[in-house]
Amino acid sequence: MLTCKEQVARSSDFLDGQLSFRERLMMRHHLMFCATCRRFIRQMRLMQATLRKLPESPVPNLDQLAEKLAAERRKNIR
Ligand SMILES: [Zn+2]
Repeated sequence: MLTCKEQVARSSDFLDGQLSFRERLMMRHHLMFCATCRRFIRQMRLMQATLRKLPESPVPNLDQLAEKLAAERRKNIR
């Protein structure tokens, strides 16, 4: 079984779908038993989703964008 440290080291590759089938299985196995890493992966995923929504070019009104993202975030919380 992976250690938490190994799990964290692989987590961005995991979220990007860069891992081999075997590595993915190992990570899923770890996540089944480790609430700490589950929380970590969830936060990473949330952050990636937020980053993907950000435009590449400078934002004219950053406050407005932050507010919009926060509103979407609230909407998605069940
Ligand atoms: Zn762990």
